[in-house]
Amino acid sequence: MSSVKNWQLGREMSYPYEARFPERQFAFVFNINRCIACQSCTMACKSTWTFNKGQEHMWWANVETKPYGGYPQSWDHKILRMLERADPDRRYWEGALGEERSAPYGQYAGKTIFEAADTTLEPESARVLGYLPSDEEWNSPNIYEDNPVGRPGVRGELDPVGTSLPVHDTWFFYLARICNHCSYPACLAACPRKAIYKRPEDGIVLVDQKECRGYRKCVEACPYKKTMYRGNTRTTEKCIACYPRVEGRDPESDGIPMETRCMASCIGQIRMQGLIELEESGAWAEDRQNPLYYLVHVAQVALPLYPQLGTQPNGYYIPPRWVPRPYLEQMFGPGVDRAIERYIHPDRELLSVLQLFRRSHSIIFRYEIEEGKKAYEGEYRGKPVEIYNDTVIAFGGDGREIFRTTVEEPLHVRPAIHANSI
Ligand code: SF4
Ligand code: SF4
Repeated sequence: MSSVKNWQLGREMSYPYEARFPERQFAFVFNINRCIACQSCTMACKSTWTFNKGQEHMWWANVETKPYGGYPQSWDHKILRMLERADPDRRYWEGALGEERSAPYGQYAGKTIFEAADTTLEPESARVLGYLPSDEEWNSPNIYEDNPVGRPGVRGELDPVGTSLPVHDTWFFYLARICNHCSYPACLAACPRKAIYKRPEDGIVLVDQKECRGYRKCVEACPYKKTMYRGNTRTTEKCIACYPRVEGRDPESDGIPMETRCMASCIGQIRMQGLIELEESGAWAEDRQNPLYYLVHVAQVALPLYPQLGTQPNGYYIPPRWVPRPYLEQMFGPGVDRAIERYIHPDRELLSVLQLFRRSHSIIFRYEIEEGKKAYEGEYRGKPVEIYNDTVIAFGGDGREIFRTTVEEPLHVRPAIHANSI
């Protein structure tokens, strides 16, 4: 095992290989507060990549209802329980939240799935703590959709009088998921044939189909369960991050890096994808005007999914504000309160950056803000609010402007002659 720096954990950790980082890293931010579980993303992925024989059960992109839903069923509950058994005296997060890039969430004092491997490995030859889901667990990708948690401690009863923000007694939320194209991929670490690799140009994690022999070690090891076995080819397949689009080689992209199909189809406008410059240490290079850098490291409203697993996932989530905080802290780490507080009371810049989601299919590399007039003044939950109609301008990889949009949505009035044209 090597010792590698995991900035999400604020410490060094063990990993089977030496750290090696790409020039730029594929990453994304999903704003859970906006997801409506329309499954357009799921179907966009399915109809592009997994519509063939033998792929019937495969959903590289999926949206599950938390806390009961999961694809495969109970994937997160199961791996957390295994981690708990492997590390019974584990401590959780320690130290204060930081503003800096090296330890923004404090230090994780427990064991990761790589470090727990030496205590409870099953089978002993495995390098990563994990398990192989059963066929039944893969069979129902949308199980428990819209099933809420009832009142705490009261079985089978929802809140009798209704519920209101900030935290609901009766709650659920939608968790949209794809492969996190992790910086320390567990799938790659576990493959005995070295068939899984991380592309040096964009950090996308791929399975070499010629090398794969279908041992399913990666399926066992990926804690997010985003590698999937295909019976008729006897190989493993996984999300490829729509790499022809990211490379700008898709016929629609006109040579410009484009976002993936699941991002581009998002009806709820919850998704934004980018390419992040990395430092030699694997930390994000300072890039203040990149919208993803801003959301993760400056505003700190977007948090990694289960960072304690140790793979340094590159998917980040703005947590849902109505869900009990202990549940969210288990899922996104100790930065949850800070993230939700800043999301509920956004400053002028955050409000502008939130307008960038889904105005274009091109990858945004940089934004600028032009100040506008004050549009609203009032109070929200005891705090004064001022909203300005600022204009936010998005630029692509070639430096050209992609689009500009304002904080206030323009009002279009249908001409009387077309009043009933729908
Ligand atoms: S999410 Fe799973 S499949 Fe994707 S890179 Fe990470 S460990 Fe590998
Ligand atoms: S398309 Fe967007 S809003 Fe619809 S389910 Fe997917 S992530 Fe949620």
